[in-house]
Amino acid sequence: MGVYVVTGSASGMGRAVAEQLRAAGHTVIGVDIGEAEVVADLSTPQGRKSAVEKVLEAAEGRLDGAVLAAGLGPAPGPERPRLIAEVNYFGVVDLLTGWRSALEAAGNAKVVVFSSNSTTTTPAVPGRTVKAFLSGDADKAVRSVRLFGKVAPSIIYAASKIAVSRWVRRTAVRTEWAGVGIRLNALAPGAIMTPLLEKQLSTPSEAKAIRSFPVPVGGFGDARQLAAWAVFMLSDAADFLCGSVVFVDGGSDAYFRADDW
Ligand code: NAD
Repeated sequence: MGVYVVTGSASGMGRAVAEQLRAAGHTVIGVDIGEAEVVADLSTPQGRKSAVEKVLEAAEGRLDGAVLAAGLGPAPGPERPRLIAEVNYFGVVDLLTGWRSALEAAGNAKVVVFSSNSTTTTPAVPGRTVKAFLSGDADKAVRSVRLFGKVAPSIIYAASKIAVSRWVRRTAVRTEWAGVGIRLNALAPGAIMTPLLEKQLSTPSEAKAIRSFPVPVGGFGDARQLAAWAVFMLSDAADFLCGSVVFVDGGSDAYFRADDW
């Protein structure tokens, strides 16, 4: 049985992943701003540093895997773009960078990062915002979406997920990751019924946009099903999976990009 860290373990898909891993007999170290083994605010550098250190201590320096599910969805408010940037991008990259040696120590560790199908279905995401993330500049990323006004949270949300997916693909193939047995992949869900989506559906303008969005199979995804995909991506069956972004979104990505191959 293994030792896994799961961020966002207090709610939604992260919570479902933690439940499924525990039910299979694994040890889970949950990280969340809500109830968790390690309580940390991933929107600040100090919170991320503390999460890195406390998890390394709890895991005794060896992690069989990590699932990075903590995230914030688009919502109104002037502070929202900053929070999305900090949690969705730096709350993945800083943590995984800090845990890399512990993942290497396991010999065959697997990592699943929660991306989103907003990466390929959101129009007009500025390349400079994605670049700002990848160069580690949160201020610049936030500044670059100001002119979008009310839709800035949606734009920076998509940009944070594009950047984190690109970081996954660039990093996955490096010798310090793939070369030492760490399999790093991303899971890109569509609209999944969790508290995050429920909050979005409670805003009339957002609800309208979400409900009219094309989903070929119809309806919303189920958090437990997405968690099962993440658990599968942590299993031996995923030994040959490296740097992939797996879309589980009812067909929306295919609907918009069928010919992008
Ligand atoms: P959720 O809101 O149910 O859970 C997210 C968790 O992240 C919560 O437990 C929350 O406390 C934690 N979190 C938020 N801010 C934090 C902070 N500052 N520090 C520490 N923890 C913090 O959301 P979910 O729908 O389960 O989403 C999981 C992941 O999947 C997110 O990265 C989200 O962006 C992504 N995603 C969700 C959907 C969807 O439709 N639900 C679609 C695509 C991608």
